[in-house]
Order: sequence, then structure tokens, then C-alpha cells
Amino acid sequence: MNEYDFVKENLKRILFEVGEAKAKYRSSDEKIEVMAVTKTVAPEIVNIAIENGITLLGENRVQEYLGKRDSYDKSARVDFIGHLQTNKVKYIIDSISVIQSVDSLRLAEEINRQSEKIGRVTDVYVEVNIGGEESKSGILPEETEEFIHKMSEYSNIRVCGMMTIPPKTDIEKNFSKMRQLFIDIRGKNIDNNNVCVLSMGMSADYTAAIKHGSNLVRIGSGLFGARKYMEG
Ligand SMILES: *Cc1c(COP(=O)(O)O)cnc(C)c1O
Repeated sequence: MNEYDFVKENLKRILFEVGEAKAKYRSSDEKIEVMAVTKTVAPEIVNIAIENGITLLGENRVQEYLGKRDSYDKSARVDFIGHLQTNKVKYIIDSISVIQSVDSLRLAEEINRQSEKIGRVTDVYVEVNIGGEESKSGILPEETEEFIHKMSEYSNIRVCGMMTIPPKTDIEKNFSKMRQLFIDIRGKNIDNNNVCVLSMGMSADYTAAIKHGSNLVRIGSGLFGARKYMEG
């Protein structure tokens, strides 16, 4: 036994459960991506997840990410999923694959500006505050369509999906509401955008999220164990 075998075991269990939920609720041609959320986890442990099949990492904090990124196995893509301050976009723009947490026009504008500077078109997801919670960032559900319309003006960003962290209560109701919003918006084929990823579900609720249409689940503690310090 190796001291990090628990990551391998957890991943095996998660992939099995994702497969079961998919078989039960979804069609066989759909793909569901499993992201490893790395906050507070040492890069050598993250790399064990990559060695065992993880191809997507999720980062919450710019500072922590910058300190760890050179140690990550380069075969995995890295998305940003945390609240992103406008003045920090420039530090991550060249190495992040998708920014999943676009929650304001100001942030979108800055991602567009920094992307233009380095000559890339950055894929982003709109973070939706599906429960309309005061304490949470994200675009309100009723404002999401208009927000994505505005994104069409930015030629260096492309909206490819929607992300949410639902309230802790009424989880399935909120997942279901999110799926409906996703379907409605995807059906509108808004210019220059191709909304096809629904990023929802974490360690406690990923099978329910898959039941309700998620095609990207973000797993932290279920894979790496409980985090040792408070999240900021
Ligand atoms: C921490 C975090 C997760 C993972 O949470 P777990 O409950 O540990 O699986 C997923 N998404 C976001 C945005 C997070 O910040």
C-alpha cells in the first residue's frame, strides 16, 4: 500500500458512480467530464489523480494556482472555478483553459481585453446564482440570457457553458431549474456563443446533478479527502 492509494480508490468509486448515474439517467452518447478540484491539495497528490485518469483540474484561488501550476502533470487541462478579481485575470489568462466563473460584465470585459492582448479567444462559462442567494456571486437566472447576449460583443471570449453552485437546500429543485435554463438558452443559439457545457454537481451531489443534466461534475473532498483549512 502506498500512502496516496486513497486517491486511486476514491477516483475508482467516483468514476463507477458517474457511470452508473449516466447509465440510469442519460443517453449512451453523452459525455460527462469529471473535474478534480484541487484547492488545498498538494500538487503531488493532484498528479496521482491525473495518473489515474483525471484530465481536468479546477482552481479556486489565483495565488495558490500560480504556486502549484508548474508542478502539475501537463497532461491535464486546468479551468478556473473560483471568484476571480478583475485585476488578477492577467496572471492566469495564458495558462487557464476555461474560466467557469464569469459573474459580471466587468470581469468579462477584462478577460476579453487580456485575451486580445495575447491573441487568444478564451472559452468561458457564465456562473449562475440559481438560488438567487444574496451571499453568492453569479448572474441571476432571469438575467442570464441578456448577459450572454452582451457577451457576443466581445470577440475574444466565447460562452461555452453555464456553471452553478446551488443552495444547500432544495438541491434537486435547483438542479432541475438550472437544466431548464440551460436548455432554454442553448436553444436560442446566441451569436458567437455555443453553450454546451452544464457544470454542476460536487462531492455531495454529483449523481443528482447528472440526473438533472450536468455534463461536468466538480469533485474536491470526495476525491482528495476533507480539506484541512477553511475556504476563503
Ligand atoms: C470546492 C469547490 C468544489 C468541490 O467541492 P467538494 O464539495 O469538495 O467536492 C466544486 N466547485 C467549486 C466552485 C468549488 O469551490
